[in-house]
Amino acid sequence: MFRVLYEVVASLAIVQGAGLPLVLVGSGWLWWRQAAQLEALTRAGAAAERRGGKDATDARAALARLPTRAPLRCPACGAATSLRVDATLCTHCGTRGELPADYTALAQLRPQLRALTSRANRHWRVAHLLTRAPVRWLLTAMIFVEPLVLLPVLLIGSNLYPDTWLDRTLTELGEPVAVVLMGFVLLGFVVWMILFIMLAGTSRGLASKLPGMPVFAELALGTRQGECVACGGAIEYEARGIACLCPYCHVENFRVRFVARRRLEAEARERQTRSVLFAATTILEDLTGTVCVLMVALVAIPGLAAAVYAWMGD
Ligand SMILES: [Zn+2]
Ligand SMILES: [Zn+2]
Repeated sequence: MFRVLYEVVASLAIVQGAGLPLVLVGSGWLWWRQAAQLEALTRAGAAAERRGGKDATDARAALARLPTRAPLRCPACGAATSLRVDATLCTHCGTRGELPADYTALAQLRPQLRALTSRANRHWRVAHLLTRAPVRWLLTAMIFVEPLVLLPVLLIGSNLYPDTWLDRTLTELGEPVAVVLMGFVLLGFVVWMILFIMLAGTSRGLASKLPGMPVFAELALGTRQGECVACGGAIEYEARGIACLCPYCHVENFRVRFVARRRLEAEARERQTRSVLFAATTILEDLTGTVCVLMVALVAIPGLAAAVYAWMGD
């Protein structure tokens, strides 16, 4: 029984020791990526700030001044036009007109918002997991498990069973390789213990910095009744629809205020979602940075020093 435990712990010790260079490179890469994302998010935030500079009260007042619905008319002949994906098309003379500005802006915002939301969700979940209490407890427990459980098992086991597959593999590898590997195994215990101390502390400090992931209400389904702005005939339209074609006079009733409000909402959602993504990315950057700095200080610099010393000795 103890022999099995010893072999498991010994394998674990080799992985955590020999894996140090991998952790060094991996944490450096992740850290660099998070930092680059933070910079891009800051730039995107500043750009959005410049675009939608007007404040919320002004925007609401402007919204109230807009008509509820307006007919879409041809800029050339004044006849009714129909909405197309990229333009309006006159049913009378065939002239293509520009789509209403709010409609175009909303159409552009929607896919951006979807992509931003799924990114924010992914980052938020990882940041949430890493700053939750059970993970912190596990990290704190590992601080004591390393020197008080794993290391004694390894030392006692290696004395009790000097002829496991591990010892045979080490003999086959030859003495220089075995010595370096054992050095990494011992270094692994020290480095991982310090790493767990730092991560448990950083995770505790960051826990309060993650805001909740916002939940946005969906628009209600169903239909609404109204009057055509051109002929006064009864029209029925989708509650989520942006326009309604009058069945009597064939004029497109564009929902001016509704689309303008959707645009404002989408812009507000984008800002809120981006700020959550920013907070989550900041937490991930902090954690990966902690690991990377420690690895440089405890593995890369001593490793380089040892290599230089060995080279000078030759
Ligand atoms: Zn026309
Ligand atoms: Zn009509």
